[in-house]
Amino acid sequence: MRYKYCPNCGSKLSEIQSGDDGMVPYCVHCGKRWFDSFHSCVVVLTYNEFNEIALSKQWYLPEQYMSVTTGYIVPGESAEEAAKREVREELGLTLENVAYAGTFWLEECDQLLHGFIGYSTKRPFALSGEISFAEWVPAKQADEKFFPDKPGGALYEVYHKFLKDRGLES
Ligand SMILES: [Zn+2]
Repeated sequence: MRYKYCPNCGSKLSEIQSGDDGMVPYCVHCGKRWFDSFHSCVVVLTYNEFNEIALSKQWYLPEQYMSVTTGYIVPGESAEEAAKREVREELGLTLENVAYAGTFWLEECDQLLHGFIGYSTKRPFALSGEISFAEWVPAKQADEKFFPDKPGGALYEVYHKFLKDRGLES
């Protein structure tokens, strides 16, 4: 999001030269620069000791599709903490470790997605109200249920990194 008005005082912003960043929206009343902002989110692929992936029906997806865990990073937490929290909230699973799997820009939503691959032992889910259904799916079959994604997309890249890391990619 590019600021036109000051979020503090509502004044129309002017611009100020800000080093290598060039001209940046600026409030002369508050003396504050308002850099472009965007949401940071996590995309977390959770797998278990049988190389199964936890897939869930997300409220924002068409009925026939499933996905891995996603959510917004909130102020005060790290991306790793957000990844663990979202999996705990959505699936009721405690990740024993989370490995970073890259960042991805989602143009249509103005979001920076942080990919993670997390491990949990296989156990029943305790779903949040946001999730109507979840299941453990053999890793190689998981993408049959995904909303179609393409190279460069977060889900595609995190999933294929997982297959490669685990020696499952044919
Ligand atoms: Zn202001």
